[in-house]
Amino acid sequence: MDNELQLFRDSAQRLFRNEVLPHYDQWERAGITPRSLWILLGDNGLLCVDLPTELGGSGVPLAYSQVVIDEVGQLGMAALATNMVVHSDIVAHYVLHYGNVAQKQQWLPKMASGAAVGAIAMTEPGAGSDLQGMRTSAVRNDAGWLINGSKTFITNGQHADLVIVAAKSDPKQGGKGISLFLVDTTLPGFERGRNLEKIGLHSGDTSELFFNDLQLGADALLGELNQGLSLGEREVLLDLRSGHGVDLGGPVLAQGADHLVGGVAAHEGDRLTEPASQGQQLQGGGTDAGGGELGKDDDCGHGSSPCAWGRPVRRDRGRRGSRRAGLRRSRRR
Ligand SMILES: Cc1cc2nc3c(=O)[nH]c(=O)nc-3n(C[C@H](O)[C@H](O)[C@H](O)COP(=O)(O)OP(=O)(O)OC[C@H]3O[C@@H](n4cnc5c(N)ncnc54)[C@H](O)[C@@H]3O)c2cc1C
Repeated sequence: MDNELQLFRDSAQRLFRNEVLPHYDQWERAGITPRSLWILLGDNGLLCVDLPTELGGSGVPLAYSQVVIDEVGQLGMAALATNMVVHSDIVAHYVLHYGNVAQKQQWLPKMASGAAVGAIAMTEPGAGSDLQGMRTSAVRNDAGWLINGSKTFITNGQHADLVIVAAKSDPKQGGKGISLFLVDTTLPGFERGRNLEKIGLHSGDTSELFFNDLQLGADALLGELNQGLSLGEREVLLDLRSGHGVDLGGPVLAQGADHLVGGVAAHEGDRLTEPASQGQQLQGGGTDAGGGELGKDDDCGHGSSPCAWGRPVRRDRGRRGSRRAGLRRSRRR
């Protein structure tokens, strides 16, 4: 590890140890972290750290983002690590890689500062691993897109300001007719359900979400129409047991994920009638739906360990922006 990265790690560790860890048990008991935590993390340059500087990040390599999650994991704050991975390493990267200029400018600086929390909503009560079973619909109208449906197990669901929602935009195309939409959670028709109880990862905010005639503009489409699964099939490999390629306090993470997945499987297992289909994301397997091998794909940036939630393929890998070794304490919101 180079000196600059080590300094960054030390600085991150100090903040987590002094300002976050003392409260963590209380948050675990409460079943949620306070919204203000995101601002604290943003103010200290610990969110979306590898985004370009013009979009609110520090323009540093992905290793810096990994170090942040690693430190959270080392301190045993597995739920927080999961929340941060979803926000910084999945949602922000979807917007960065598939968003247009306006979408990036609208959301990424706010995500880096903690002013906006990100979530990604794919799983439904009847569509977990096999996203083709998805029922949430996106119907085109004069104003843009009308979204109806529900999602479950959505990390950051209670605090989210931005949710990337996967919805069927062309039911005739089956699994190929799925698109991704940027949903601003202040819009009418967006509703948060329960923050689900788990046997682990208690303060990990994992929620139901509902969309009732939620009207989106045409500009809410993320990436190409009907390409949702091909955008996602490499990226969203929902293996929460694998721990993001770093030590998230594995047993705690595994406990929470196994319990939930087992519970869902018990209720929904009768729909698992086919072998892994296109766009299907399997738990704990080490093989992705796009045919790649987890852990061997260094595009995902997580070295030799399998991904927790994967990430969009980095097309700018190797970019070296202006590195900042220390934490940014005065980032603007
Ligand atoms: C803590 C936590 C946070 C989460 N956060 C999010 C989130 O932010 N956003 C989101 O969209 N989802 C989220 N999820 C949901 C998670 O991604 C799903 O639980 C996962 O996709 C599996 O879906 P399922 O639970 O319906 O299980 P099922 O699809 O019912 O699968 C159950 C088991 O059967 C296996 N299986 C399924 N199909 C096949 C097959 N054809 N062949 C062989 N084996 C098969 C699976 O690998 C799994 O082991 C979260 C889950 C947890 C536990």
